[in-house]
Amino acid sequence: MNTNWCLYENSYNGDMVKYYEGLMTQGNGYLHVRGSYEEGISGALQDEEYDRKPANVTLEKHKKQKSKWGTYIPGIVGPHPYLKTETINLPYLFDLRVNVDGEVLDMENCQIEKYERYLDLRDGVITRSFIWKTKKGNELALTFKRFISMADKHIAVQMLTIKAESGNANLNVTGDINTGVRTNGFNHFIKVIKEKQEGITRVITETNGGNIVTMCSYLDQEGEQVIQEGEQLTITKVIHVSTDRDGEIPELKVADVDIRTFNVDKALKRHRLKWAEKWEAADVKIIGDNRAQLAIRMSIYHLMRADNEDDPRVAICAKGHAGEGYCGRYFWDTEMNMLPFFIHSNPKAARNLVKFRYLTLPGAKENAKAYGYEGARYAWESSVTGTEECACWQYADHEIHVTADIIYAMEHYVKATGDVAFIEECGLEIMKETAKYWAGRVDEINGQYELLGVMGPDEYLPMTMNNAFTNRMVKFSLEKTLKYCREFDQAEKDKLAEWEAIKECLRLPYKETDELIMQSDDFSSYADLDFDAIWTDRSRCFGEFISQEKNYRSKALKQADVLEMMMLFPKEFTKQQLEANYDYYEPITTHDSSLSAAVHGILAAHMGRITEAESFLNKVIDIDMSPEKRGAEEGIHIANCGGLWQLIVYGFAGLNSAMWEEDVVLEPHLPKEWEQLEFPLMWHGEKKRVVVTHEGYKIY
Ligand code: BGC
Repeated sequence: MNTNWCLYENSYNGDMVKYYEGLMTQGNGYLHVRGSYEEGISGALQDEEYDRKPANVTLEKHKKQKSKWGTYIPGIVGPHPYLKTETINLPYLFDLRVNVDGEVLDMENCQIEKYERYLDLRDGVITRSFIWKTKKGNELALTFKRFISMADKHIAVQMLTIKAESGNANLNVTGDINTGVRTNGFNHFIKVIKEKQEGITRVITETNGGNIVTMCSYLDQEGEQVIQEGEQLTITKVIHVSTDRDGEIPELKVADVDIRTFNVDKALKRHRLKWAEKWEAADVKIIGDNRAQLAIRMSIYHLMRADNEDDPRVAICAKGHAGEGYCGRYFWDTEMNMLPFFIHSNPKAARNLVKFRYLTLPGAKENAKAYGYEGARYAWESSVTGTEECACWQYADHEIHVTADIIYAMEHYVKATGDVAFIEECGLEIMKETAKYWAGRVDEINGQYELLGVMGPDEYLPMTMNNAFTNRMVKFSLEKTLKYCREFDQAEKDKLAEWEAIKECLRLPYKETDELIMQSDDFSSYADLDFDAIWTDRSRCFGEFISQEKNYRSKALKQADVLEMMMLFPKEFTKQQLEANYDYYEPITTHDSSLSAAVHGILAAHMGRITEAESFLNKVIDIDMSPEKRGAEEGIHIANCGGLWQLIVYGFAGLNSAMWEEDVVLEPHLPKEWEQLEFPLMWHGEKKRVVVTHEGYKIY
């Protein structure tokens, strides 16, 4: 077990089960399964029905559950009675029950010793081993192993090796595909057929989203048998998963495999090779900081696992397809937080992530129409069709910057890869439609255009006037729309003058020369707060200490807003402006959103405030990695994973964004203990390697 590559647990702790289930989620882009125990845990019901209702996203208390199984196929979604369209938790395919001498294996009730479990990030294999002292007095050594194949997208494999250390063991192992599951307390299954023929268990599930999911499993040795003292036995279960959506994507074509004769050793080799290729293109090596090393690998593992590089019909949901926290929805997180990692490690994956927004343009058009506008308005929370799925009005109605963020991301992709063809193929249409929306959304006041009633990235001010970030982004998106329309498209000529006027006259709530930029026109009128008096425990969210009503009328930021803008448009602000704004906003930013700390860390690094940047690095790492916080219970904060990559690459290595530089330019600010930082970088279609030390940097 390599501590720089493995997420490791060395004792069983009932309170940590749900956390490790999230943290150790396995997957291959197509299929994702949380790291639950194969045999379940006694008392942890998986089919309990309850009402999860829309709630403030920061403060929602999730249902207390000891364990939560989760099996997700991005794209398999269905309506929930309160939460709109959500990802569907599918039957649990790793179910494996072990009975020895009449005693049922259960981590909670059996006598377990020498327990250890680890997820090897290199190949996504989970290994769990322990000694089980049975009530009868026998000792057994058990090792569970499992993987979801990165090479054969429809295949998952699990193995159990049991050795009778002392005494003969009367063993009975059964394998199942367990259909007793719910999603956020709701049953999405319309019809479930379960049959067993010639040793193969087949479960066909029809969902309320209208999909058919077929799972087959084969256990090579089932039923009762005796293991003599000193001997061991390995049982293998091969699982095949497919859906009615697969055929539309050639790469997801369902292979014709007989799971009874499937060669597991060869499959494991193929799987490892595929993971090795992925790591070759993405691994970030840090010498001198093991904690950061493991954290960045954990982040990259989840980014690569969560992304289906072959399928532009899906993106990466805010919980990285590792839980039901955000109902499997796609946010601006994909474009702003995750995309840079893919742009520079796997441009094909990046292209498909951007293309997702093209395929969901019809949904965005429906949204615009529903709000009474022309054109396309992207959903704050999107599912597969692109229609608005956010069940809380304040975000759905007012957090409109996502529509412009998508254009920024598209341009970033094109600048970094040189794939201008994408603009003609998909981008232009998105730009024109979103420009039409902005033309309807702006208000003309005294000859200028304004965006009123807006929630910026800071979700603690729901309805502000002319949010700096939003207006800057909209200006940018119109500028690009005009540029590409003039270059490639003559069709919308009559509209160009209108869009040009809006771009020119869209009022920013600041002047170029302002040292301090107010987040919005009205920002300075909100009330000041005495943070120390209110926020008495800084290990918890600020939002827990204040009513939403008071929060919404005060100067307390949930997350970076003006600073996020400064990070995205670095050439437009001087160091002095950056420092002034950082010093103003940092003390009133609560970082209640997991998207925030990385931004502050990157800017702290840019300003050369390394100790401060390091303390943000710790904050970023803690979000999912801290066993005390258990942040991964409801899924991985995958935007923060992308944020960590950006903090290391843009912050500490100081890479200038491809959005603004033609060549690779670095201004490194390494933490003191870091001896060396090394990472691969795709830049305009070329594979490069960057090595940074305190002495300087090299690009190969
Ligand atoms: C943040 C948003 C983010 C969403 C999903 C919210 O708490 O404020 O910026 O998009 O979570 O991660």
